[in-house]
Parts: sequence; C-alpha cells; structure tokens
Amino acid sequence: MIILVINCGSSSLKYQLINTENAEIMAKGLAERIGIDGSLLTHQVGDKKTKIEQDMKDHKDAIKMVLDALIDNDHGIIKSMSEINAVGHRVVHGGEVFSDSVLINDNVLKTLIDCIELAPLHNPANIDGIKACQEIMTSTPMVAVFDTAFHQTMPEHAYLYAIPYEYYLKYKIRRYGFHGTSHKYVSGRAAKMLNRPIEDLKIITCHLGNGSSITAVKGGESIDTSMGFTPLEGLPMGTRSGDIDPSIIPYLMQKENLSTEEVINILNKKSGVYGISGISSDFRDLEEAVDKENNERAKFALDVFEYRVKKIIGSYVAAMGGVDAIVFTAGVGENGINIRKSILNGLEFLGFNLDEEKNKVRGKEIIISTDDSKVKVMVIPTNEEYMIAKDTEKIVKDLV
Ligand code: AMP
Repeated sequence: MIILVINCGSSSLKYQLINTENAEIMAKGLAERIGIDGSLLTHQVGDKKTKIEQDMKDHKDAIKMVLDALIDNDHGIIKSMSEINAVGHRVVHGGEVFSDSVLINDNVLKTLIDCIELAPLHNPANIDGIKACQEIMTSTPMVAVFDTAFHQTMPEHAYLYAIPYEYYLKYKIRRYGFHGTSHKYVSGRAAKMLNRPIEDLKIITCHLGNGSSITAVKGGESIDTSMGFTPLEGLPMGTRSGDIDPSIIPYLMQKENLSTEEVINILNKKSGVYGISGISSDFRDLEEAVDKENNERAKFALDVFEYRVKKIIGSYVAAMGGVDAIVFTAGVGENGINIRKSILNGLEFLGFNLDEEKNKVRGKEIIISTDDSKVKVMVIPTNEEYMIAKDTEKIVKDLV
C-alpha cells in the first residue's frame, strides 16, 4: 500500500510517502514557514532534493504543493494522487479517548477538537493538517495515530497525580505520556532482534532527542513513562526543564515579575541543557564546548541530563521488577556515543557490560552490550513515520 504520512506543526508540515510492502520511503520533505513570508518546500526523492519557494498561506496550500511535487513530471514519484491509498496523520494528544490509531470520520474529528484543551500547542496544527487533506483528497481514507495512545495501558498508580482526585474527574488532569509511536516501534524491534516474544520481555526504551522520554515496556505494554500531562514533565531536554518543584513557578513570577505564560515559556523554550549551559540545546555543541574549552556549564548540562536518565532507568527496573533490555533511540540516543557511555556507567550491576567497540556506532541497529551480558543494551533508530504508515495500512486495508 502507498501511504502518505503527515506530521503538521503550526507553521511546518513534514511528510513521507511510504510503500508499506517493502518499507521504501518513496519521497519525503518539509514545508516550512506556512503562513509566514518566505514559505519553502523541500522535496526529496532518493538523493535528489528540490527546493520550491512559493507562498503557502495555510496548511491547505502546503498540502496542495506537496501533492503537486509528488506527481510532478520532473521531481515527482507517482502519476496521480489516486495512487495514494491512504493518509496517516500524526496527532500529538488523543486524551483518554484514543488508546489506538483510528479511522478519521466526523465524530473522531469532533473528539480531536475537544482534545485541543489538553494540547493547545500541538493539536490545532494536527487538526488543520487533517482538514486540509480532507478538502483536497476527498475520497482518500485518513487515519489518526496518536503520540499518547501507546501509554493508555499505564495503570492508575502510574498515571494519577497526587492532587485532589476531583481534578482528574473534572479536567482529566493525569499523566498521558508522549513519543508513544517511537517507544512502541523500538520495543517491537528489540523483541525481534532478541528473537523473543515481546510478551516475555521487560524493556526500557530511552527516546533521547531534542525532546526526551523514557518508557517501561512490560510484556509489550507501556506501564510507565517519564512525560506527563504535557511533554514538559520528566527528563531535562534540549530546551525543556523536565521535572521541577512546582513552587518554583510562583517564586519566579514574583522575583522576576513574570506572568504564568512567561514562566511556562521559559520552562519550555529556555531551560533544559540550553538553560544550564547558556550555549545550545544541541548536545553536539555541548560536547564540543566541553572537549575544546572545558566549558563548565556545558559539563553541568550534560551531567544533569545523564544523571537524570540514569535515575529513571533505575526507577523503571524497580517498577518492572527487573529488565531484559535497555534501548537507546532518537538523535542523542542513536548518535551520542559518549552520552550513552556516561549514562550506562555504574549501571552494570543490572547485568550487562558495555562493549566499547560496539558502542562506537551511530544510527544503526546493534546490541552494544557484551555477548555474555544477561541484560542487552541496544541502539535502535526510531522510525515513527513507518509505524504511522503500518498502523494506517492496518486500519484502512478493508476499505481500499
Ligand atoms: P531528534 O529530536 O531525535 O531529532 O534529536 C535531535 C538531537 O540529537 C540534536 O539536538 C542533537 O543534540 C542530537 N544529536 C544528533 N547527532 C548527535 C551526535 N552525533 N552526538 C550527540 N548528539 C547528537
């Protein structure tokens, strides 16, 4: 099946055209600066990149440009739009309603709109993308795949906050978790690589990128994850603070004369390793600053990040009563050789030794613990788009 996977941000749209028979990425690209001057579409087929500068006033314009690029005589890959069997949309928040991917119809769209309150930064753009596609591809089935869905198996003791229960009942304030598609994909791949049924395995998946979260996957189900009501909870990230004492918020508001929005903006955009280092949110820049100038604050930032990852791994071993595999994925997890080494250093008592040679790898599937390790440590590149395409295929296969 040929599936168009769409991931919409407020002013951007990422896409991949995937053939699910052979997992081939037929084309991919990015529409940037939607609704802003200087809109740009970068479209790629194989190694050939085409840049098209053209006004995109909204997501509908962007989708039109993407479809035009896909069927273009010169840089396209299909003859007509009708070759696209279905569209899979990444949707950030599915609330408690969606514990799996779903075929989009009027009711689903209405429920998604109801979820906007829970994810005001992300869901509106996702919905814009869905509506734009529906207007143009009127007879193509569409599926919503949620970042939160995989974590809907978390038990109450993992998802309830210790605040008055009425707020959960009234406002659905609870932990939801994110990056679900990635955690599901890499835990599934880990089971395949170990040639064992996922039902028998306790896996800790570390999605460490610009946004980071860790999940305890027991028997193939998420039983705990580090992000919460929003993606701000849990680990320190590129620019997000992760867990802090909530009392810091009113304290900062008073000391710096800031509004709630301003403080939340600082916690989302100016904190994390960027906030501590004052240099960059990119872990490569921090490693360079430590290596070249022995920069102390860059070192603090890396130390805080690595320590917090280590602590969550330890807590998830406790939550699952053991661990069979620890998986690293996403930009930092797949590429950060020294960061992986520092995180793992001191955790050998769990039952592994790091094979330093095998750890010198970037962006490919590999077991980096020694062959005699009881617990396997693995690097598995994530592939959220493929997962979205496969879920979409599963749901629409009886319709097309
Ligand atoms: P992601 O959000 O998954 O795309 O990850 C992006 C992040 O991966 C970047 O901000 C970098 O900090 C990090 N990254 C990419 N390559 C490397 C590398 N070679 N070493 C350390 N971090 C890396």
